[in-house]
Amino acid sequence: MRRSKSDALWLRAAGVIPGGVNSPVRAFRAVGGDPVFIARGAGAAVWDVDGNRYVDYLGSWGALLFGHAHPRIVEAIERQARDGTSFGCATGMEVELAERIRALVPSCERVRMVSSGTEATMSALRVARGFTRRDKVIKIDGAYHGHADAFLAAAGSGVATLGLPDSAGVPEGAVRDTLIVPWNDLGAMRAAFDAHRDQVACVIVEPVMGNAGCIPPAEGYLAGVRALCDTAGALLIFDEVMTGFRVAAGGAQARFGIRPDLTTLGKVVGGGLPAAAFGGRADVMAVVAPIGPVYQAGTLSGNPLAVAAGRVALEMIGEDPGLFDRLETTTTRLALGLVEAVRAAGHPAVGHHVGAMMTLFFTADPVRDYATAKRADRERYGRFFRAMLERGVYLAPSQFEAAFVSAAHGEAEISATLEAARVVAAGIG
Ligand SMILES: *Cc1c(COP(=O)(O)O)cnc(C)c1O
Repeated sequence: MRRSKSDALWLRAAGVIPGGVNSPVRAFRAVGGDPVFIARGAGAAVWDVDGNRYVDYLGSWGALLFGHAHPRIVEAIERQARDGTSFGCATGMEVELAERIRALVPSCERVRMVSSGTEATMSALRVARGFTRRDKVIKIDGAYHGHADAFLAAAGSGVATLGLPDSAGVPEGAVRDTLIVPWNDLGAMRAAFDAHRDQVACVIVEPVMGNAGCIPPAEGYLAGVRALCDTAGALLIFDEVMTGFRVAAGGAQARFGIRPDLTTLGKVVGGGLPAAAFGGRADVMAVVAPIGPVYQAGTLSGNPLAVAAGRVALEMIGEDPGLFDRLETTTTRLALGLVEAVRAAGHPAVGHHVGAMMTLFFTADPVRDYATAKRADRERYGRFFRAMLERGVYLAPSQFEAAFVSAAHGEAEISATLEAARVVAAGIG
């Protein structure tokens, strides 16, 4: 593939944007090679600035449930743009979007819009702390909840280790109340509760881990977490920024039948524009300003363009009862096919998929948490990623990120992807 225009932009970008990118994983450091610069997208495909076409499994990190430039979403944005792009005032369509969210995710009895997943989780944490008047938060090792200070702690191994900052610039005090436990380990979470009796404000989980690669909850795990929170008087936050409207119309909470106290949403809820939300129990959300003492605000919150796009996306989800079955069928075929292609070439592989998200781990061992995910062969994943990209398939640029299927991905895209995988797997060593 010719990449001369991408390469030229990459050089310029490095001179003006830190690391050349506006979000770190875009720099391909986890997979090697230089990033391609994208010019446009349509349906399941994107084209780079040199005109190369890729089947896109990044989907703007999961935001694009209906693929790129879906005509109905484009039309909604165009129509709203002509009527004004921001008011900083209440609008009718915010009410409609909030009602639509609640219809699909009933635990969100009250919903507030924000502009990014980071803002949603940061605000939900403040609400949980304000409501319970406690400070500690239990977080899962390897889970990502955006880049707010309190969540930038993964800490090492061990049960209920006190959080240590995972990023320069995060003061120890900001993560002092962040407790880290491994995913799918109820014993470790129970121990964390026991060690900090009456101090835990909330547990926050990605109900299907997605930011360490796709790692589903073990049977009974989420119910166990729910019970531990109830016993301790702590709130349960489902960070469904990735899983919301992605693993089922009602998110992971609908799929697994667990009702969290607070939910954060992002990605799909903005229909490809910057919108996110947090919501939950009416009594808990009643602490949010202006009716309660927990301050939370945003100049562009509930932005008309983003709300217009998100509203159409949720409308399309609501209209199509077969949507998630089809997405799951496509994703299953992709996941099983990739595992088969890689194994046929003699490499160990584990494939996880839930709804319309999946990860192919280059490992022979079961992947049940971050520690076991880290046993995967990152170098080999990098070679696989780069060779697939060369053949026109854009996978997640890290072993520890999920790949996303959209409603625009059909038989043709999956077949082409698996064909490429068979060829590529044989040559990656
Ligand atoms: C993407 C993501 C976030 C952060 O959302 P941004 O919009 O990137 O700030 C938070 N939590 C989860 C689970 C995510 O996948």
